[in-house]
Amino acid sequence: MTEITFKTTPEVTLVDYHGSDASIVAAARVSVAGGEEAQYLEHLNVAKTKEYRGLINYLMTHRHGTPFEHNSITFRVAAPIFVFREWHRHRVPWSYNEESGRYKQLDPVFHIPGPARPLINVGTSARPQMVPGSFEQWEKLRAEMEEHYILAYRSYERSLAAGITKEVAREVLPVGIFSTMYATANLRGILHFLSLRIHDPEAKFVSYPQYEIQQAAQQVENIVKKLFPIAYSCYIDNGRVAP
Ligand SMILES: Cc1cc2nc3c(=O)[nH]c(=O)nc-3n(C[C@H](O)[C@H](O)[C@H](O)COP(=O)(O)OP(=O)(O)OC[C@H]3O[C@@H](n4cnc5c(N)ncnc54)[C@H](O)[C@@H]3O)c2cc1C
Repeated sequence: MTEITFKTTPEVTLVDYHGSDASIVAAARVSVAGGEEAQYLEHLNVAKTKEYRGLINYLMTHRHGTPFEHNSITFRVAAPIFVFREWHRHRVPWSYNEESGRYKQLDPVFHIPGPARPLINVGTSARPQMVPGSFEQWEKLRAEMEEHYILAYRSYERSLAAGITKEVAREVLPVGIFSTMYATANLRGILHFLSLRIHDPEAKFVSYPQYEIQQAAQQVENIVKKLFPIAYSCYIDNGRVAP
């Protein structure tokens, strides 16, 4: 029998990227410099950091968004299907390729909330205020989930063994099963995604995303912070409003 794995956290890794803070500046300068400046793709020069910051901050605060579109980041995401359902609501400018439940047997990897995951909402649905459950509540939930996931996956395997095609046999699998995808977007779209999927009480427009997509978004944010440090810091200073 296939061994079943339980995970508490989605995983986001960097696959590929192009562009930098310098390419945001280059794209913005085309408007005044014309074709010659369009060739300019100098890598970020520390001596020019202040100059870049001033322009990028201007673009961010005045919501001149298009210079933030001439770049891209590709992420590999492994997350439960209920997180994918939330993520895939972000249509612009994301491109997605996801593993197929028609063409391959889905791996027996399921999500179980870790003990630190708050389990009780003492706020409202619009403004959730999540607090921890008791250890007994978490332990009961964990046991329920494990039991159900194992039952569901064994049923899936029995249908496959009986010759049922994968696309039909998968119907018994719950939304806690992990899937994987490539997700590619430009910085403007990624910042919009982060503004909705990270809870920050200091943000100009405070969002209340679900814990698990926020775990994934936090990993996206860490990658963005490394690749576009100036644009990222301007975004934070601007109250997490995407340009
Ligand atoms: C905390 C939270 C709770 C949520 N709860 C629910 C819920 O209960 N039910 C539910 O269905 N969804 C829910 N959502 C999903 C939400 O409604 C959006 O679908 C999701 O956040 C993607 O946002 P978006 O449309 O701005 O992003 P994108 O699809 O990436 O679009 C980016 C921007 O492009 C423009 N745009 C895109 N498509 C169009 C269009 N067709 N017409 C005009 N302009 C367009 C808009 O300016 C939009 O902001 C929730 C999201 C969050 C963050």
